[in-house]
Amino acid sequence: MNLLRDLDRPILYVMFAPLSNTLDGLTFFSLPRAVWALTVWMLLLAAWGAVRASSDSHGWRRVVATSLLGPAVLVVLVVAALVLPRPIPRLVHDGPGTAIDYHAHTNASHDGRPGWTLAKLAAWHERQGYEATYVTDHNIVYDGSLPVPEGTSISLLPGVEWSVHQQHVVAIGPVEALPRDSFQGSTARMIRIFGAIERQGGLGIASLPEYWRYHWDDLGAFVLAGVDGFEIVNCAPKALGFPSDLRRQVLALAGSHDLMVVGASDNHGWGRVTCVWNVSQPGAQGFHTNRVFARPLALVQGDWQPCTAAFTQPWFLLRSLSWSERASWLTWVLVILFYRALPRREGQSAGLGILARSVLRRRKAASAPPAPNKTPT
Ligand SMILES: [Zn+2]
Repeated sequence: MNLLRDLDRPILYVMFAPLSNTLDGLTFFSLPRAVWALTVWMLLLAAWGAVRASSDSHGWRRVVATSLLGPAVLVVLVVAALVLPRPIPRLVHDGPGTAIDYHAHTNASHDGRPGWTLAKLAAWHERQGYEATYVTDHNIVYDGSLPVPEGTSISLLPGVEWSVHQQHVVAIGPVEALPRDSFQGSTARMIRIFGAIERQGGLGIASLPEYWRYHWDDLGAFVLAGVDGFEIVNCAPKALGFPSDLRRQVLALAGSHDLMVVGASDNHGWGRVTCVWNVSQPGAQGFHTNRVFARPLALVQGDWQPCTAAFTQPWFLLRSLSWSERASWLTWVLVILFYRALPRREGQSAGLGILARSVLRRRKAASAPPAPNKTPT
């Protein structure tokens, strides 16, 4: 398990780091933390707007309008985090191995984003620095027969995500249709799917959040039934709350039985950034198949009470910044402080105009003809 601090960040991403990081921070949220944080932020922004407007003794319409402004900006940011094309960090790994995703969906899944085709999925993976991904739609086998989509170098590998009794199982490799009903109804029936996948020549990986939520006491039975691995990070909001101490227990279990551990983007077409990568080692098997690289903000989602999210999310976000991002944040803070401190004449309101005027004045002075030479004779 590796923490990521030194991703390859495009220059535009770093230049606008406060915005880039904020959109990332809105993406790497467990579901209960997202609900808490957005609710608290909206209330605080609305209250702040209302207090500001009422202190200027404007009418009630103005107070309502101003108090709605902050929450509206927040909604715009959330939508931007989900769909806005923007520069994003990518994994650059040196040395041997393939950057690979084990779990991703297209619009063939009932909950895939409309229009999220194999080509779009491949382009999404390409931007993050992946080299390959398994395509694992819900109960629909992808056989890997399609060529690499045009414009990418991403290998789309065969797989499926089976929904069985209180568990999702990612099956990868030469997988085929299964009589899914025979793995419903009980845990004892469900875990037989691992043997069935093995007989097809595939690998069966237990998905998050289901084994954490519904089968935490059954993991020994999973191992005996032939599970090939466990997800230890999954970027879906329902799965991101997996706590670190349980992750350590799964790592210990997988290590002692030489089973795979994988990170899963579980991409469904929403969100521009992934929270995890795997670099699979050529020739390696079992526990040593992958090195898993995860964004630090994603890993702490399960370690704090959801009700603290409005305050802990910004704190963890700031704590995980690289040095270049910190420099960018600092620059923006200084620019804003400088702008706010600029002296302005009576009657002039704050605005970019004053900054532009002062720059223009300075330019004019610089381009004025030089004063006559007054060197003493
Ligand atoms: Zn999935």
